[in-house]
Amino acid sequence: MTENTVTENSEKKSLNFIEEMVEKDLAEGKNGGRVQTRFPPEPNGYLHIGHAKAICMDFGMAEKHGGICNLRFDDTNPTKEDTEYVDAIKEDIEWLGFHWANEFYASDYFQQLWDFAVDLIKEGKAYVDEQDQETILSQKGTPTQPGINSPYRDRPVQESLDLFYKMNSGELEEGSMVLRAKIDMAHNNMLFRDPIIYRIVKTPHHRTGTKWKAYPMYDFAHGQSDFFEGVTHSLCTLEFVPHRPLYDLFIDWLKKGQDLDDNRPRQTEFNKLNLNYTLLSKRNLLALVQNGMVSGWDDPRMPTICGYRRRGYTPESIRMFVDRIGYTKFDALNDMALMESAIREDLNRRATRVSAVINPVKLIVTNYPEGKTEEFEAINNPEDPEAGSHKITFSRELWIEREDFMEDAPAKYFRLSQGREVRLKSAYIVLCTGCKKAADGTIEEVYCEYIPNTKTGESDCNRKVKGTIHWVSAAHAVKAEVRLYDRLWKVENPRDELARLREEGMDPVDALKQMKNPDSLEIRENCYVEKFLADTKPMDHFQFQRIGYFCTDKDSTPEHLIFNRTVSLKDTWSKVKDKA
Ligand code: ATP
Ligand code: MG
Repeated sequence: MTENTVTENSEKKSLNFIEEMVEKDLAEGKNGGRVQTRFPPEPNGYLHIGHAKAICMDFGMAEKHGGICNLRFDDTNPTKEDTEYVDAIKEDIEWLGFHWANEFYASDYFQQLWDFAVDLIKEGKAYVDEQDQETILSQKGTPTQPGINSPYRDRPVQESLDLFYKMNSGELEEGSMVLRAKIDMAHNNMLFRDPIIYRIVKTPHHRTGTKWKAYPMYDFAHGQSDFFEGVTHSLCTLEFVPHRPLYDLFIDWLKKGQDLDDNRPRQTEFNKLNLNYTLLSKRNLLALVQNGMVSGWDDPRMPTICGYRRRGYTPESIRMFVDRIGYTKFDALNDMALMESAIREDLNRRATRVSAVINPVKLIVTNYPEGKTEEFEAINNPEDPEAGSHKITFSRELWIEREDFMEDAPAKYFRLSQGREVRLKSAYIVLCTGCKKAADGTIEEVYCEYIPNTKTGESDCNRKVKGTIHWVSAAHAVKAEVRLYDRLWKVENPRDELARLREEGMDPVDALKQMKNPDSLEIRENCYVEKFLADTKPMDHFQFQRIGYFCTDKDSTPEHLIFNRTVSLKDTWSKVKDKA
């Protein structure tokens, strides 16, 4: 299949089940014909590729149906949240190319949620429980056995009210009391067994400071926030399926029986992104950062949006990938190769082709005069005629890849070996005449003679050779550091493997260390790139011909160029897997 047909197919592909639902709701005139979604990150870490899937859904669905999508920070847990994360999340969403209509915070609703909780206590639908977490948990029962009522369940309303105010006054210790909704300790949905809806947290909040000491739990904040804002479609991932009835119940309680059916938020769930050789979840990613297992949240091996950005992934490639894997109601493990083929496809269209030698050995063109130079035209991008060309300088001494010379080469080796001819990309055909070796056998220099009249357009330019290799002129090239990245994990499904190791009692950090691919980063400090790259800027994309796609690192300077490998030219991993 050509690239074009792939794109056409993805544009024509059928609606996913969420689009079908939204279009049906619109056709039926629900919510007054409005579509309003939200993306609700908790600001407790950087966004990862899984979030990109949710972002494309939340923003994409609103965009497609003339609606709006708000960004709402779910900031109900002050111990883990920080404005650093808020800023990073905003930067990443914008980089992906999406725009929120409003920036909201669950903490904007702390007063409304408090008032609602007070109402529930007054209506006998909530009570303060003075038991500790463990005791409460032990009374929950099991899916097949009902739970036990708390001894505080039927305490007088006024007592609960007084204690609830105390929970927020600062005079009580964390964990000493909680507010619970009074539902049904025998309910078959465990989440209905008098869920905790408020707890005491004394850590100052990144926005509201020390104003609050009692904080709503996720289930008591999310649906209500959706309702306050006028969200119509509350899209989230499958683990929230059992929470949906509670989501609906709290909204019913909030509106006290008012008829809302056509005008209320509805939660719909889709499958999480789970990629092989990739570990998501902010908790795990934070552990990698905190234990120095990566250089930071934007380490190019991280599955964070900022990690992919630094690695050289484009927003277009991420959106293309998300679009291709689609949305379903079933958990799946997607192949990393799909993501890599999306970035290859995108960079094939946009990356400038350049020459870089990442494992250099000298090639001396012995019949080329010393001091002479020639400039050859190098096409910037054969996929894009508008991209033009740039000049590359040829001279007597070149750098080539060590792998492009072999002393005792097999017949099918179409590169340099004594007596064989190859084309030097964009320049002459050369005949290899030998090499010089060090005492230990290391090749120190390779020798060749150029064949006159074999440049493009010259009389002998069509002379048959089986191979073309790249090169840079030793006197004109610029030194560079090249970072070759590979998968961070050895195991195909790190999420499940981590769970398994932890179940065996292994310390989580030890488990992460054991799963890490020891070859996930190789630094090559003595590489040479053509001088055209001397003034590259961070985030420029290149194809190092015959090697892969690279991107200039954010720490690169003209004095110390640094390039990150985004992806190799071909998928080498599926071959490894086939052999295994
Ligand atoms: P993590 O467990 O990685 O920290 P989270 O779900 O706690 O993720 P939130 O910030 O609470 O992260 O999530 C914001 C939104 O992103 C939620 O709607 C959540 O469902 C969605 N989301 C999180 N992880 C994924 C994923 N792997 N695939 C798709 N959507 C995801
Ligand atoms: Mg979370």
